[in-house]
Amino acid sequence: MKEIVLLGSTGSIGTQTLQVAKLHNIKVKALSANSNVNLLAEQVREFSPDFVCIYDKNKYEDLKLLLSDTDTKILCGKEGLCEISAIPCDITVNAIVGMAGFMPTVSAIYAGNNIALANKETLVVGGEIIKRLAKEKNVNIFPIDSEHSAIFQSLLAGQGNKPKKIILTASGGPFRGFSSEQLKSVTKEQALRHPNWVMGAKITIDSATMMNKGLELIEAVWLFDVLPEQIEIVVHPQSILHSAVEYEDGSVIGQLGMPDMKIPIQLALTYPERFVTNTAHLSLTDIGSLTFEKPDEDVFSCIGLARKAIRIGGNMPCIMNCANEAAVDMFLKDKIKFYEIPEKISFLMDKIRYTETISPEIIEQTEREVKEQMK
Ligand code: NDP
Ligand code: MG
Repeated sequence: MKEIVLLGSTGSIGTQTLQVAKLHNIKVKALSANSNVNLLAEQVREFSPDFVCIYDKNKYEDLKLLLSDTDTKILCGKEGLCEISAIPCDITVNAIVGMAGFMPTVSAIYAGNNIALANKETLVVGGEIIKRLAKEKNVNIFPIDSEHSAIFQSLLAGQGNKPKKIILTASGGPFRGFSSEQLKSVTKEQALRHPNWVMGAKITIDSATMMNKGLELIEAVWLFDVLPEQIEIVVHPQSILHSAVEYEDGSVIGQLGMPDMKIPIQLALTYPERFVTNTAHLSLTDIGSLTFEKPDEDVFSCIGLARKAIRIGGNMPCIMNCANEAAVDMFLKDKIKFYEIPEKISFLMDKIRYTETISPEIIEQTEREVKEQMK
């Protein structure tokens, strides 16, 4: 029986991870949320972890009250989050949204825990640091992101042969085929309606702007040690081919399956074994046809911004990520329009102080500077 710590247990990936844990009797040693104390308390009652952490310190007393008759130790804040992520276990699952997931990942790696990583922002803001530390501590990072799980699986078939190219697939989001003019008038409700996946609000907006694919490109650079130029983004609206790898001999090896995050979540927890899942299996004849097209990078300019950020390096991907998080937050609060998201990001990439090197302190400083600018 494996033991896990689960960060971000109340979210879309977090709740699905708990379904997988339940199905396969995986012991959950710790849980965490930002502020959703009610769901977190329910999860504690069901899974009886040793520790629980609520990030928002204002909710600590509420959680304490809700769990006063349980033995679970309650922690709070960033310190609490870093403490639980380092609890000895087989895998720390990081399902937090946003760059708040960075320090807990660092803390888990320092403790020698393997990581199942959904939190792509960790690698976008500090991929170089994470990669170096993971190597030093001999820690594995198993991707949960469906595309990266597919690439991970496709690379296994290469038996150590280097990939020539990575084919990173994208659904294209709700606005696939739209012109820049049409994007001017889209609403929040439309942006939140993803055609293939039900996910948290932030990644759903990232999918609509296609910044999600930009973040995933950077995620792939760090996870698989490839150059950004080796990654081709291909729009595949059916989300059945989750990504693929091309080898020198022209063979393309990919992973296909129904669009259900429980499949990559489970593989990250049980690798190298594959167990039964309670999800629908793929019938290619039911699906009928799979289509592929080039992304329109003129309309979805976030892809180009991500390419630029990783090419420049240093804290530029971090600036881009912070700006994106702030812009998406403003959009969700109806403070800016959809088309203003890439404009804000581009503006801040030019404006915020660039540094060639990256460290946890620089990441924090960059975040502070972006927040200051966005006020
Ligand atoms: P959700 O918004 O559904 O859940 C986020 C989780 O993180 C919640 O438990 C939330 O707590 C917690 N959280 C939010 N802010 C903080 C914070 N500042 N500190 C600590 N915890 C926090 O997100 P998703 O599950 O959709 O996404 C999680 C990550 O996985 C993202 O990085 C996303 O890009 C990635 N991912 C998601 C996929 C999906 O299908 N959803 C697919 C591939 C990748 P609370 O509930 O209290 O707010
Ligand atoms: Mg993905």
